[in-house]
Amino acid sequence: MRLLLLAAPGGGKGTQGMRVAALFGVQHISAGDLLRAQARAGTQVGREISSYQERGDLVPDQIVFDVLTPVIVAAAACGGYILDGFPRTLPQAAAAGDLGARLGLTLDAAIYLQAPEPVLVQRLLARAGEAGRGDDTAEVIRHRLQVFAETTSPLIDYYRDRGILLTVDADQPPESVTDEIEDKPAGLSFIRDTT
Ligand code: ADP
Repeated sequence: MRLLLLAAPGGGKGTQGMRVAALFGVQHISAGDLLRAQARAGTQVGREISSYQERGDLVPDQIVFDVLTPVIVAAAACGGYILDGFPRTLPQAAAAGDLGARLGLTLDAAIYLQAPEPVLVQRLLARAGEAGRGDDTAEVIRHRLQVFAETTSPLIDYYRDRGILLTVDADQPPESVTDEIEDKPAGLSFIRDTT
């Protein structure tokens, strides 16, 4: 099974990515986590990644492909994946589609986790108060939400036009969101039965 989770920051991609991957027995691939791991490695490219992430800007596409492609290809050979945070731009979606076509892999569904902006902001600020990531400050959060609105949200229509978009109400407790993802579509039950 190959799914993509699409959501604004705070929408719950990470949480649902873990839960849904465990549910379906496939790998959770978090673009943000993989990029943060590279950043921590402290290499030159890691420092570059870190500077984009700290500002809440998107990391350049080429770096993202270099980091993500081998992981996706390996996971595809082991039964599938839940993609969390990639693709995140239209050019990334086009490139991911081309890669998929070359490898004979297509996405089964793109799941849009939808929640109102005040809920997103509240969740991110709450996280900032707990463990906190460097990009969970009020100013950077505002910028990340703007980047989502301008650059990532066109993917909602992109996948809707391809007939694979499923929208889930993400303004519910995590268990309920997972249940909705699991129950949602006749399509997904079908996918689950065939993997
Ligand atoms: P959130 O969705 O809350 O912003 P993520 O962990 O998904 O959290 O992403 C954090 C940061 O990682 C982004 O602000 C961006 O800098 C970088 N990033 C993650 N995925 C991508 C991607 N596909 N393309 C470019 N940058 C990305």
